[in-house]
Amino acid sequence: MNLGIDDLPVRDELRGKSPYGAPQLDVPVRLNTNENPYPLPEALVERIAERVREAARDLNRYPDRDAVELRTQLARYLTDTSGYTVGRANVWAANGSNEVIQQLLQTFGGPGRTAIGFEPSYSMHGLIARGTGTGWISGPRREDFTIDLAAAEQAVAEHRPDVVFITTPNNPTGTAVPAETVLALYEAAQSAKPSMVVVDEAYIEFSHGYSLLPLLEGRPHLVVSRTMSKAFGAAGLRLGYLAAHPAVVDAVQLVRLPYHLSAVTQATALAALEHTDTLLKYVEQLKSERDRLVRELLAIGYEVTASDANFVQFGRFEDAHTVWRQILDRGVLVRDNGVPGWLRVTAGTPEENDAFLDAVRELKCLVG
Ligand code: PMP
Repeated sequence: MNLGIDDLPVRDELRGKSPYGAPQLDVPVRLNTNENPYPLPEALVERIAERVREAARDLNRYPDRDAVELRTQLARYLTDTSGYTVGRANVWAANGSNEVIQQLLQTFGGPGRTAIGFEPSYSMHGLIARGTGTGWISGPRREDFTIDLAAAEQAVAEHRPDVVFITTPNNPTGTAVPAETVLALYEAAQSAKPSMVVVDEAYIEFSHGYSLLPLLEGRPHLVVSRTMSKAFGAAGLRLGYLAAHPAVVDAVQLVRLPYHLSAVTQATALAALEHTDTLLKYVEQLKSERDRLVRELLAIGYEVTASDANFVQFGRFEDAHTVWRQILDRGVLVRDNGVPGWLRVTAGTPEENDAFLDAVRELKCLVG
């Protein structure tokens, strides 16, 4: 029997929708999902094996439900890198920041409630909203992809959302959001109704600027979410975390599944955190490769959106999807995020970036 999703009694809001689906194609150069191109250093691989071996001895038991050691080390990392003191009680961790976002929406969104994001932005905010029964509001952005504060404040006042997402640096555009904009939107959101403001800092380590963690001071409705998928080069680990007032950390525990973070995940993340200094060296390298991509794309004659992340949005194209395919035909996978006229390339190794630049240079010669 030929049966599709829509033939099943799925919830109305899921009808006709597609799952998140960045293509996982087997091509020589993959620069489409903002991964870190550098494999973990061998010493860290060894340390992970050691830590996991230790954890394996206790796998007959459930893991630490509150991930105390891991949250302590994540708090230390945040404090060391931002200069703003964060304690274990301020930190919560889950399987990727996607799960952090899901838990936040399960806690503060849900049926009869709404969330807003300023689009184009990270598409999963809207998809996770839908999955949790939260209404999604697509807020505005300017033509140059910065947030128009007056228009954003107006959208917040009009829709009175329960959750406000601000992604900085933004994905897929790379645009950073100034602290003043976040502060103004926080105030706007509080006067519309007491709502949660989630600052998604998945790419903050690649920024020219600073983390907004210090804004947590005195703002119990603010949440900063982070991930080990990008700067730590550990997308396969699935470890995301948040920093917020301890009451927020208590609240998300109402919805988290018991023992959601496996003992293997906790052991692996702890090993990675022991190697923070080495891993962050790759970040510096990727930042300079990102800046090189921007320079060279401009020199070739493309338009580029200023980037504070480990990727660059470039264009403009009459038909971005055709160009995506032409780049793929040259062995390089970039991302078509559906932003009309634009594509996104993740900063890879210098060799991968050269392959990408060769491909787009050749296309520029062919089609102008
Ligand atoms: N936030 C943003 C802005 C992202 O781009 C991503 C990954 N593409 C995530 C969150 C989720 O990352 P992860 O679940 O791997 O932590």
